[in-house]
Amino acid sequence: MKLPLRGGCQCGAIRYEISKQPLTLYCCHCTTCQQQSSSAFGLSMLVERDGFRFTQGAPSAFSIPTDSKSNKLGLFCDKCGTRIANDTEGRPALSLKAGSLDDRARLRPVGHIWVKSAQDWMAFEDDTLIYEGPPDDSYYALMERWTSQELTDKPTS
Ligand SMILES: [Zn+2]
Ligand SMILES: [Zn+2]
Repeated sequence: MKLPLRGGCQCGAIRYEISKQPLTLYCCHCTTCQQQSSSAFGLSMLVERDGFRFTQGAPSAFSIPTDSKSNKLGLFCDKCGTRIANDTEGRPALSLKAGSLDDRARLRPVGHIWVKSAQDWMAFEDDTLIYEGPPDDSYYALMERWTSQELTDKPTS
């Protein structure tokens, strides 16, 4: 993708910039993502923390209840409520809510996780990566597929 990537919340109070290539893009069909997005699934882009910065405004943080001990924060705009990212303590990458990017024209996920709780009308492409629950390979296949998609799928302009 053409760097830097930029995005922000719905009201414009919060803006961010991404200066390193995203690691992957996938859909999460877990019930938490359904609730968080008020929709059918979450669209998550893993972005390395040291390549991400807020350029305007500061997000509020919501502590997300999890089964593990690590602290997981939901970063959102307190004016319009847009969730920008989830940030889990100890992980090198943020889970960016990809719909907050300015350029949403070519957001093609390479896989789907937590498919066991997906809506039953969801249809998946034959060659997409499917995980019944959370990825059991530390997102390795999702990252590899994303990298090869980016290499073979250059925009024409
Ligand atoms: Zn906002
Ligand atoms: Zn999820």
